[in-house]
Amino acid sequence: MTTPAFPTGTILGYPRIGRRRELKKAVEAFWAGRIDAAELEAAAAALRTATRERLAQLGLGRTDSAIPESFSFYDQVLDAAVAVGAIPPRFSDLVDADGAIDLAGYFALARGEGDRAPLEMTKWFDTNYHYLVPEIGPETTFSLASDRIVRQFIEAKDAGLITRPVLVGPVTFLLLAKAATGAPAGFQPISRLADLLPVYAELLERLAAAGADWVQLDEPGLVNESIPVGRAAQLDALERAYEVLGGLASRPAIFVAAPYGSLGDAVDVLAASAVEAIGFDLVRGSLPIGLTDAARTALAGKTIVAGVIDGHNIWRGDLAGAFESAAAAFELSPSVAVSTSTSLQHVPHDVDDETKLGHLSGWLAFADQKVEQVATLAAGLIDGRPAIADALDAASVALAQRLSASGVRDGAVRARAAVLSDVDFARDDYEVRVAAQQQALDLPPLPTTTIGSFPQTGEIRRARAALGRGELSEADYVAEMRAEIARVVALQEEIGLDVLVHGEPERNDMVQYFAENLDGFDVTEHGWVQSYGSRCTRPSILWGDVSRPKPITVEWSAYTQSLTSKPVKGMLTGPVTILAWSFVRDDQPLGDTARQVALALRDEIADLEAAGIAIVQVDEPALRELLPLERDRQADYLDWSVGSFRLATAGVAAATQIHTHLCYSEFGVIIDAIRGLDADVTSIEAARSRMEVVVDLEASGFDHGIGPGVYDIHSPRVPSVAEVTELIERALDGIPERQLWINPDCGLKTRGYDETVASLRNMLEATRGVRASV
Ligand code: GLN
Ligand code: ZN
Repeated sequence: MTTPAFPTGTILGYPRIGRRRELKKAVEAFWAGRIDAAELEAAAAALRTATRERLAQLGLGRTDSAIPESFSFYDQVLDAAVAVGAIPPRFSDLVDADGAIDLAGYFALARGEGDRAPLEMTKWFDTNYHYLVPEIGPETTFSLASDRIVRQFIEAKDAGLITRPVLVGPVTFLLLAKAATGAPAGFQPISRLADLLPVYAELLERLAAAGADWVQLDEPGLVNESIPVGRAAQLDALERAYEVLGGLASRPAIFVAAPYGSLGDAVDVLAASAVEAIGFDLVRGSLPIGLTDAARTALAGKTIVAGVIDGHNIWRGDLAGAFESAAAAFELSPSVAVSTSTSLQHVPHDVDDETKLGHLSGWLAFADQKVEQVATLAAGLIDGRPAIADALDAASVALAQRLSASGVRDGAVRARAAVLSDVDFARDDYEVRVAAQQQALDLPPLPTTTIGSFPQTGEIRRARAALGRGELSEADYVAEMRAEIARVVALQEEIGLDVLVHGEPERNDMVQYFAENLDGFDVTEHGWVQSYGSRCTRPSILWGDVSRPKPITVEWSAYTQSLTSKPVKGMLTGPVTILAWSFVRDDQPLGDTARQVALALRDEIADLEAAGIAIVQVDEPALRELLPLERDRQADYLDWSVGSFRLATAGVAAATQIHTHLCYSEFGVIIDAIRGLDADVTSIEAARSRMEVVVDLEASGFDHGIGPGVYDIHSPRVPSVAEVTELIERALDGIPERQLWINPDCGLKTRGYDETVASLRNMLEATRGVRASV
């Protein structure tokens, strides 16, 4: 077989949701029954066609496999599960006689249906994207159940393009899967590799028959050392997988991409295999070092795909530096190509869609600009550096401007951060605080509260939209929000909650709201990125030194407190979460930026305290998600992340109670960090796992206040009094009564009022019952 040349410039994947979120709208219309499957298919096909044409226009080759076929209706891991027929038995009736599943069935796996729970969802490497977790057991049968990817290749070919199909690789697919319920203890999905490979082989043969020259198999699972099968088992699986696939008589040339980190010793295995191209993430990871002679010789016969354009962030960056790192790969092989470090699914479409970013635009590269950067560097690899010198220089000039622009370095912010010492990070001893807070707050045993937001009704959203369009005055908007707050306060008093919230009606989003009110940030108009399925977020851009021009939440909280004699909890988003859900400057360590955000929040908390707010909650749902994959980077992360929370919160008096909220339930992995936060009260998710977390909590000896959620807010179901009572009792099995708080799993903003009121009433009734019996 003669290997077709690999394109000199490519990207690992492109945003799928559409420039104006066309896919989101079409998919949601299908879910709502407003369009049928054929109409959804047509909308998706139109989007794919537009994407391919756009990529060709931006400089990727039309017939050299440079354009990736990376579309997905919901998630690429779900696509792989459906392609190989790994449908959990609870959905088996959705599979037809040929073993295939239709679009409605596909979405049922993603979203659940009736009593059937969807596949679990979890974070995709160190990004804000979430994938669906395949369930694999000893009984899972693998067969080619969907040839969508082949049909999409043919769809492109019919339009005169030769594209490059992209699939999650077999090793990563199994490494990311979880053992199906009922699998024997210790069962590992990766043990099914030999049964899975024939399906990948069939798919590759079908692609070859359809005319595909190259296929991309994504194997980021190999860069993640924290996946709980040993490294040796991972490498063994990698070797076997590519021995089988590489050995096929008829197949496209194989490009194995390894985004999100370094391949480490997996390089030797891939070098020894028959794959024709290997992709390295040269932004997060590096080119291999310390190769054996054998590996060096083998690599010289393959294409090295240098992922030098950051797929993770939105900066135009150092293009000349990127060119140097790509060119350095010629040391390994005479065949070098340039690509993005990861799929571009993590960045928005196009800077040119933004009209309000001013001078910021010149510093940025969204997906389309990154494609152009790739095309530029590819031209440089072919024609030599002088051919692209102008483009490299222009990027360097923009970068220099960015680094020296006003607002990027603020002397006052830096001076303040430079003189911090240990006392700025420490509060009074916990015992002292407990006594002072007891006296100040006089709360009953098992105090009840909520996590912050109340339902964001249509009226609230409409008012905000009208304000944005200038159709509602600022004063009228504030009046509407105050009326909403007054309703929420009256409701909480009537239900009988002990610590009240204002309900967060004035916030469009828990990060963007603060970004809009702090200096150093900008927000985009169309900068949407897919978070999961049809859910998109619009991360803010943190480009300069952060400071607080004026108080942000104080008037809202003070107004709320004026309505009630119960304590009102001030509500802020923590520094780590603000960073995690924004695009953050890359010219200084994250820890330095976190400190600036922390100082701004510290001032806000001081102002809240001065305004008579006795409890302040600082949400850090992203604390776990920003934890680096590589173990050797974790200690440093915990140091700055925990430090920034403490810096934000340690300025208050002993009597002021600091709460935090973390969304997830995997308490065990991050217990030391939670202890480090030293919050007086920590609320976490616990209802879905039925208080499993209590075991970890008890074992850890955690002695501060803790509110494990007593009902799941992710579904509209109203929990009965008996159910909530049972969860409270389970919590009390491991947590002393004096530490326990009663609250739902998370904020209520995505819920409706009917179920919210009914659920909170049941929560209160259950609490009263338990209080009477302890
Ligand atoms: N205070 C926020 C709310 O209730 C917390 C949201 C979150 O944890 N994601 O909505
Ligand atoms: Zn939460």
